[in-house]
Amino acid sequence: MLGRQTIASINLDALKHNYTYFDDLASASRTMPIIKADAYGHGAVDVARALQASAPAFAVAFFDEAECLRDSGISVPILLLEGPTCADELAVCARYNFWAVLHRAEQFDWLRALPAKIRPPIWLKIDTGMHRLGILADEAPKLLNQNRDLFREDTVLCSHFASADELSNPMTSAQLSAMLTLSQQFNLPLSLSNSPAIQGWQQSHQAWNRLGIGLYGGAPIVDSPDSNLKPVMSLDAKIIGLRTIAAGETVGYGQIWTAQRESRIATVAVGYADGYPRHAKVGTPAYINGHRVELVGRVSMDMITFDVTDVDKIDYLDNVELWGDNISVDEVAKFAGTISYDLLAGISPRVKRRYF
Ligand SMILES: *Cc1c(COP(=O)(O)O)cnc(C)c1O
Repeated sequence: MLGRQTIASINLDALKHNYTYFDDLASASRTMPIIKADAYGHGAVDVARALQASAPAFAVAFFDEAECLRDSGISVPILLLEGPTCADELAVCARYNFWAVLHRAEQFDWLRALPAKIRPPIWLKIDTGMHRLGILADEAPKLLNQNRDLFREDTVLCSHFASADELSNPMTSAQLSAMLTLSQQFNLPLSLSNSPAIQGWQQSHQAWNRLGIGLYGGAPIVDSPDSNLKPVMSLDAKIIGLRTIAAGETVGYGQIWTAQRESRIATVAVGYADGYPRHAKVGTPAYINGHRVELVGRVSMDMITFDVTDVDKIDYLDNVELWGDNISVDEVAKFAGTISYDLLAGISPRVKRRYF
């Protein structure tokens, strides 16, 4: 086989399993797969194709991402989480079957200016404390009142949790209660839950849940991983160098690791230009021929190095799992001081993707 063989393998059965699992966990809610950022690095078109028979709608961050899915023949409704950036964008949403999040006052005027027939379904975003996007909770009753005439059967009220992955953080209950009040007052259905809320905050399950990381098998609540989830991506690369070095020798840029014994070092064809995290610490695990091994030395652009002294059989072009079924992406993320989302979404285009 020609080429480098640094591959992200995407297990579509695992993806469907995770979708069904979360959909069943919140059986009174509709579960919307979040496939922004190229489906967290898994390939939005392939993920959408795999889920389109079961998912009632998808969500992406912005218009261009949604357009790309339409160009590839995906026909399920797509919610634009960041909303339309201008009136013209809102004006074409209905034609594409895009749903628009409205999160600031001016967007209501854009909507009103459109003939009723070409107004897309809208989700009204309320800022209940995340303070990123949305109508400030204090201002919401007035603004919603002024725009009641725009509400339809398919209008949804939504908000986003800041800390749903912290099960004892009172913020989530406060945000939930603010939204329940508004929902009653305006008689609108709600969408609140991201993956951690679907897993950990049953009360937050409303008309629509928004499922992101859990779909891909990342732990929504890192401190209480759910063993029902299956990893969807396996990142693998080949050994392209093998050497034995004496105790006292160092490996890699900056000589940050020194061999304490005679050591066998395997050089693997993946680096930060592929999306392997540059800040992965010495000791970050990988999986080679049935053994867990540890990263030694700094991550380079195209290569990394592992101590394979204790692996009995090892050869050039042997496979190395960087994360997947044996090493969780959450564990690697922890060693790199980040989260699974960052690693998955950060896989670069030079990594081949393979679907099975
Ligand atoms: C990305 C995103 C989600 C999904 O979050 P996960 O934690 O990955 O489940 C849900 N809602 C909004 C508004 C988002 O931007």
